[in-house]
Amino acid sequence: MSDVDKKYAKVITVLNKAGQFPIPASETTISILKHTIREEDLDFIMAFKRDISQTMEQLKESSKLPEEEILTKVKRLAEKGVMFDQPNRNGVMVFRLLPIVRQSEYNFMKKLEHTEENKEFGRLFKKLDDNLNQMFQNDYDNFLNMWKKMPPIDRTVPYVKNQNGDNIEIVLDKEVEVPIEKIIPTQNIDDIIKKFDDIAVGKCFCRQREEIIGHPCKQIELIDSCFTLGKSAKHTSKHGFSRLVSREEALDILKKCREAGLVHKAYHLASDINKEEVAICNCCGDGCCPNSLKGAYIPQNNASNFVAEINPELCTGCGTCVEKCHNAIIELNNDNIAERDEKFCIGCGVCAYFCPENAISLVEKKRIVNIIPPQK
Ligand code: SF4
Ligand code: SF4
Repeated sequence: MSDVDKKYAKVITVLNKAGQFPIPASETTISILKHTIREEDLDFIMAFKRDISQTMEQLKESSKLPEEEILTKVKRLAEKGVMFDQPNRNGVMVFRLLPIVRQSEYNFMKKLEHTEENKEFGRLFKKLDDNLNQMFQNDYDNFLNMWKKMPPIDRTVPYVKNQNGDNIEIVLDKEVEVPIEKIIPTQNIDDIIKKFDDIAVGKCFCRQREEIIGHPCKQIELIDSCFTLGKSAKHTSKHGFSRLVSREEALDILKKCREAGLVHKAYHLASDINKEEVAICNCCGDGCCPNSLKGAYIPQNNASNFVAEINPELCTGCGTCVEKCHNAIIELNNDNIAERDEKFCIGCGVCAYFCPENAISLVEKKRIVNIIPPQK
């Protein structure tokens, strides 16, 4: 390994402190960072090795650089998805390193041309996914046990109305006496949008990345459908990854996502579903998004509050839900009645949205669904 590559490898260990799990320093990860971090900025990133979040005063001390130079580097790194720069609740600007996966998310939120450079960037992240899947496969059981203890990465926010605008039947656990909103976070995607003044939207980074390497999504064309909220919206719009939108436009986009059968997923501050939402994704089941059974390359934990229940008296066996289910876990049984595999049901309500007989309801069942790629 060259001396420069050794420096990039050290930077990966620092960036890993910002993520949920360590990404190994390899030829692939080093090549990714060469797209996003200039050689001249490597030492500056090493200044974050003790603390991934620092104020200007702390950075001046740790990097030994003057303020003007720090600001130039921060801007360059923020525009590549390496750094987050927003004030804290006391109004003091804080500079925070972002994990490597965020570089994929932010950079592919921008509308990208199909240039060789962008294609190569997409291919490198795909290779990283494959490498991580290989790591998982090599130590399947241990990895799985470790993963099951990790917090959920996202939370399913169910559809509440069907395609005709009628309410989907939602059955709450009658044993629980406290109001539902006290025990589970907001269950209506429109209510999440209405909570925020700052809402930004960019391309779905999963679908754009797949499209650019030659696998366009079969479920929906590439539209602006990845939302960042609050401080994250300010950050992504400031650095050109997204655009600020009105609540009305946001609600309109979410409606289009439902019409295409995409699943609403909420992401929370520090991956804690009791904290405020920071982003909303609208995920397909076509394999672009890594949180569906078809797309997962490493296990994903999803916080779900419901499970789909099919009423055999109402089901006519039309097969629509079989075709539309996000995780492809519905089948018609020998009596031509739909049945779903509860293990991988995330309670998204996509099946209920499309069922022409209103035969599907969502029954409250608060749990973590482990989306697990099959063992090879
Ligand atoms: S969409 Fe409704 S009616 Fe059709 S198979 Fe599924 S549950 Fe039955
Ligand atoms: S059966 Fe499929 S579409 Fe229906 S709620 Fe479960 S995961 Fe979603």
